[in-house]
Amino acid sequence: MSHKVTLIPGDGTGPELSAALETVVAATGVDIEWEQQDAGLDVMEEYGTPLPDHVVESVRRNRVAIKGPITTPVGSGFRSVNVALRKSLDLYACLRPARSIKGVRSHYDDIDVVCVRENTEDLYAGIEHMVTDDAAESIKIITRKGSERVVRFAFEYARMHGRRKVTAVHKANIMKCTDGLFLRVAREVAGDYPDVEFEDRIVDNMCMQLVQKPELYDVLVLPNLYGDIVSDLCAGLVGGLGVAPGANIGEDAAVFEPVHGSAPKYTGMNKVNPTALLLSGVLLLDHLGEAEASRRMYDAIAAVIGEGKDVTYDLGGDAGTSDMAAAIARKLS
Ligand code: NAD
Repeated sequence: MSHKVTLIPGDGTGPELSAALETVVAATGVDIEWEQQDAGLDVMEEYGTPLPDHVVESVRRNRVAIKGPITTPVGSGFRSVNVALRKSLDLYACLRPARSIKGVRSHYDDIDVVCVRENTEDLYAGIEHMVTDDAAESIKIITRKGSERVVRFAFEYARMHGRRKVTAVHKANIMKCTDGLFLRVAREVAGDYPDVEFEDRIVDNMCMQLVQKPELYDVLVLPNLYGDIVSDLCAGLVGGLGVAPGANIGEDAAVFEPVHGSAPKYTGMNKVNPTALLLSGVLLLDHLGEAEASRRMYDAIAAVIGEGKDVTYDLGGDAGTSDMAAAIARKLS
């Protein structure tokens, strides 16, 4: 079966990383027709915006996209393309798996945690103002609808991927209305999934426990702000942003992307690590229903990293982006 997927290479090192992705996905044998759409700094002059409407329309039409990183110019007045895509397509769940890979330097060797972050509300709704010159106020929005759909997503993900437990993370002891609502809804939704264990943790305790006993945790579901912070903590547990994939998923579309930025100082140098975008590709294949190819692609990436020979500088090697991709593709053929 052929799949049509929007490919947004991004800017900075994004195009080199996307070429690596195309090489590796082609080697899995999955038939993907890439519809390339350019966004970011490189199109701003032509379209007057880093995210032209036709790019959003392409994602809406194909319902699935993968993108390289995109630079957010500081002080330009343009909001981040990533945020704009999430908002315009209502991509309410941010999926951030963190899994140890042998050969990636980290303090732990056996982490396998998935963060599901609510992407649309909480303090990130951006409703804030100056009350006086010396006082500012920001409004935290938590709704039943926003909480229910993301918690349900976490349970469905757990069920589909054979995961045993979902942990809801909150600060309901202090924010009794907002986080209290999130926790109440999480408990209600958990009742529909008796086959998946459910528990909750207060966010500060959660951070400490993730550092001390990460093996106790499986799927975490969090409101936006805690999700932003805790998902990076989990990326740190497995070796950092160079190996951290992500996805933003809604009812009508899903956009897969690495967590790291455009690493502009390395643009055009064939130097950066393609792993985070490749692992986002692993998530993409799984989402497309190509579970077996997704597993093979993951194993090939892990094998090349484990051998430590054809890897980029940040993994202790001297291979270029394209050399590492070629080595992974060879494992798949
Ligand atoms: P960055 O992730 O680009 O870089 C942080 C550090 O990590 C740098 O030293 C960089 O060289 C290194 N690095 C990043 N990716 C790497 C890779 N794949 N392999 C090896 N080393 C890598 O973060 P930044 O410098 O804060 O941001 C640069 C630009 O990217 C900014 O404009 C920022 O807004 C944007 N950004 C975009 C996204 C996205 O598109 N999703 C995410 C974060 C930042």
